[in-house]
Amino acid sequence: MDQLQALVDEALKAIETASTVPEIEQLRVTYLGKKSTFSELMKTLGRMDAAERPAAGARINTAREQVQQVLEERRQHLEAWAREQRLVAERLDVTLPGRHEASGTRHPVSRVLDRLSHFFTSAGFQVVDGPEVEDDFHNFEALNIPAHHPARAMHDTFYFNAHTLLRTHTSPVQIRTMETGQPPFRVICPGRVYRCDSDMTHSPMFHQVEGLLVDEGVSFADLKGMMAELLRAFFEMDVAVRFRPSYFPFTEPSAEIDVQCVHCQGQGCRVCKQTGWLEIGGCGMVHPRVLNNCGVDAERYTGFAFGMGVERLAMLRYGVQDLRLFFENDVRFLRQFA
Ligand SMILES: [Zn+2]
Repeated sequence: MDQLQALVDEALKAIETASTVPEIEQLRVTYLGKKSTFSELMKTLGRMDAAERPAAGARINTAREQVQQVLEERRQHLEAWAREQRLVAERLDVTLPGRHEASGTRHPVSRVLDRLSHFFTSAGFQVVDGPEVEDDFHNFEALNIPAHHPARAMHDTFYFNAHTLLRTHTSPVQIRTMETGQPPFRVICPGRVYRCDSDMTHSPMFHQVEGLLVDEGVSFADLKGMMAELLRAFFEMDVAVRFRPSYFPFTEPSAEIDVQCVHCQGQGCRVCKQTGWLEIGGCGMVHPRVLNNCGVDAERYTGFAFGMGVERLAMLRYGVQDLRLFFENDVRFLRQFA
């Protein structure tokens, strides 16, 4: 019993200096556990006189409860402190800027297609679509390009078999439009086309936009006026436009469309190869045989058609030197068109 107060003092001092929750737990085992000093003291009660036993037992219990209470208070204090430390360490800084979704930009090819579609829909044209896997009839035959016609050699066609191919131009869409409808027609057909060709200015897949206008009394002057209007709107410049005689099996007469070089205003530069002119596309009056192939009365109706490469227009409009940049999807390149 003489040791009791010393034991309590020792325990309280140890508890007071404990600085972590695990240390407190260790002290609980040492002083209050089954093999602790207090338990040992309780065992000595059996050897005491029966008269002294209750008082001694009560004293040991009181001392034990005192130690236990102080220990629990210290434990709660240390736990609260540890929680506080964690909150400080793991604090969220709500003032940090968030991680935004990067917003994309319209692809330059899509932008050009949008501009062209906008121009033509304003002029009363409809935008129509068609299959990219075509048959020989719609891609060649109906366009007055029969088998063994030399013009086929110009197309570098991807064939699946003798009758099925990847369309080499969007002209089949015009054929399908005329086959299934009644004149007048005012359509443009933007879309992907495929040719077996690849270098700085050619890609095996590229985009074309072709247009068709069929009605009574349509003349070559209407075609020329519309092309000049289109190119001035597209380049947002008062550019000169010239037609050069050319040959396409599906138009007669046919012409290549040139626009005054938009980089040097016709003075001559690297882009126009010092000629002052840029080739933009082909056009002509729809061949009567093509109209007849589609069930359109060529005696009553005339029409014009034109076609141009979308990437070519995008290169000239945005000053891009290499066509392949459009298909590499390099974000640094595409971001410039925001
Ligand atoms: Zn030039």
